[in-house]
Amino acid sequence: MRTIVAGNWKMNTDRASAAALVDALVKESVRFGAQAEVIIAPPFPFLAMAVEKCQGTPIRVAAQNCHQSEKGAHTGEVSAAMLKSIGVQACIVGHSERRHYFGEGDALIGEKVAALLAQGLTPLFCCGEQKEERESGRHFEVVTGQMKGALGPFSNAELERIIIAYEPVWAIGTGLTATKEQAQEMHAHIRALLHTHGASVAERVPILYGGSCNPTNAEDLFAQADVSGGLIGGASLVAEQFLELVRIASNVSSSRQ
Ligand code: PEP
Repeated sequence: MRTIVAGNWKMNTDRASAAALVDALVKESVRFGAQAEVIIAPPFPFLAMAVEKCQGTPIRVAAQNCHQSEKGAHTGEVSAAMLKSIGVQACIVGHSERRHYFGEGDALIGEKVAALLAQGLTPLFCCGEQKEERESGRHFEVVTGQMKGALGPFSNAELERIIIAYEPVWAIGTGLTATKEQAQEMHAHIRALLHTHGASVAERVPILYGGSCNPTNAEDLFAQADVSGGLIGGASLVAEQFLELVRIASNVSSSRQ
């Protein structure tokens, strides 16, 4: 399995800085090698531009959110079909910021996953526990609940089209990172949950780590047996750092062959 490096730009950049960031990645993309898969998730207004600039490169463009309905009276929302129509290939769902600031729960997140799959887009499904949940030893239970709550209804063929990102909430944007042991044991747990749907689901679904991942800690994290790459926030906004993460991912992948 190739190592995936996905950049979540969140509500950052403007037209000029988004263009400059995509240009910097596109310029270096000839050096990505076949071993690393690169996804960027710019804000909605810059998606079409990013898709255009990334055409003919190995970089895939993702959205950061979508609505669960196909169309209709949902002022301010964006559908999976709209994303598909401009060439977006994937979409983040269930990010902790959407769960906590926008009240999105597992059932709604599952509906968004279904909407994306129906359009042939790749859902990048995030899960992860909060600080108190880890401190009280409930982190496995919480992640199991999120996985079952959102992904329970899907067939094996559908599950195989999803990318999962484990993002402990206490590590997102805080500078705190899960240790490689903490990451590996949760990724193994998620892999085991996938295994209940069959060996091929467990083998095919990439599980990314997210939470203050940067060029200093990435090698240790990406090298863990059940870690298939990273979902990167802050470090994805600095071209040199993101490119360094892609280089590390590529090396880790090559050494696994
Ligand atoms: C994220 O929000 O998905 C994330 C991983 O952010 P950061 O890398 O900044 O912790």
